[in-house]
Amino acid sequence: MRTQNISVLGATGSIGRSTLDVIARHPDRFRVTVLTANRQVEALADLCARHGAAYACIADPSLVAVLRKCLAERGARAKVLAGTAGLVDASSLPEVDCVVAAIVGAAGLEPTLAAAQAGKKLLLANKEALVMAGPIFMDTVRRHGTKLLPIDSEHNAIFQCLPVHSAGESGGNGIRRILLTGSGGPFRSRERSELGNVSPEEACAHPNWVMGRKISVDSATMMNKGLEVIEAHWLFGARPEQIEVVVHPQSVIHSMVEYADGSVIAQLGNPDMRTPIAQALAYPQRIDAGVPHLDLFGIGALTFEQPDFERFPALRLAYDALRSGGTVPTILNAANEAAVAAFLEGRLPFLRISEVIEETLQAIPGTPIGTLEDVLAADRLAREHACGVFAHRQDSFA
Ligand code: NAD
Ligand code: MG
Repeated sequence: MRTQNISVLGATGSIGRSTLDVIARHPDRFRVTVLTANRQVEALADLCARHGAAYACIADPSLVAVLRKCLAERGARAKVLAGTAGLVDASSLPEVDCVVAAIVGAAGLEPTLAAAQAGKKLLLANKEALVMAGPIFMDTVRRHGTKLLPIDSEHNAIFQCLPVHSAGESGGNGIRRILLTGSGGPFRSRERSELGNVSPEEACAHPNWVMGRKISVDSATMMNKGLEVIEAHWLFGARPEQIEVVVHPQSVIHSMVEYADGSVIAQLGNPDMRTPIAQALAYPQRIDAGVPHLDLFGIGALTFEQPDFERFPALRLAYDALRSGGTVPTILNAANEAAVAAFLEGRLPFLRISEVIEETLQAIPGTPIGTLEDVLAADRLAREHACGVFAHRQDSFA
């Protein structure tokens, strides 16, 4: 067994750290080659020292000198890369075998695409990259023979429940439906009238998962599930009507696949991202992920509910965007990122997030996606529009 050289994009984040925890349990299998971060120089230098990374990449190029100093202080010998070019290198250096794409948001698109172009084994957490550029992304994966493995827990579960273990191939094989489970987030049982004044801290307090702040807010609006519907469409070639969202508050079943004969195959586990990460890192083998065994007697019961498209309009917007196609999901994603950032900064009330997205979708017409420039232009336009919507309105918590 040859040691795999791993590049972790977004190493300082929640997925990045879970990945490094799994890697550190198997020094015979995995070697940390590159670690990247946006601006967290100290944390990046700590991780490089601890994991012996050969390269450290900081997305903000103004921090190169500080990063060098932090690395030297820790006796870490990592070579320094920086900026978008550095992130692209982090994905495509010849010595890298496998790239874990765990940057949050659209910032991850170019480096993740670069990994696909370089034909690396690609472990995808950065769902926004796929949502905004689905056709280009999947086309790149096909043309370069990239091994694409989802580590979003639901998609990893679906992958494990499919008969042919190859994301990127279209459905078939008697598959009737994908049952995409979601916890329902922290506001699952709240009335809409109770959501007007919720704070970023309340929105980020997820009942089952500890995650970065952006995806935590997405879980609270259920946009996360909406983005995951679009992600499932691209990864598994499923039509929108073949993807059903099932609210499952215990987060034990991570998703299911239903077949023509009535069989439903589910993947279960504790809600711990190290399980899907380890599954993808070692695929097709299985390795220890440090996750405790599933205590079914302690859990007792698994329950299921219909999603509420009225209280959580973001989910409906995402289905509509997927049906519209072209750059409409790009616009949805960009408006969501802008609105969530404003909410997290206290500039936009919670319920306005989905309204801003809807207004942006109404204002900007979708176009077919031909090139990456089409995607980047739609992304820019949608962000500008969304920011304009809350700049011109009296959006406050009052
Ligand atoms: P996080 O906020 O904890 O970490 C994000 C990482 O991306 C950090 O390392 C940060 O430095 C880096 N980053 C942020 N902005 C950047 C920029 N502009 N340029 C370069 N790097 C940048 O996020 P997370 O929760 O780890 O999520 C990462 C991705 O994984 C997201 O796309 C999310 O949807 C997906 N995901 C996360 C989880 C989870 O449990 N956290 C589960 C499924 C999918
Ligand atoms: Mg998920």
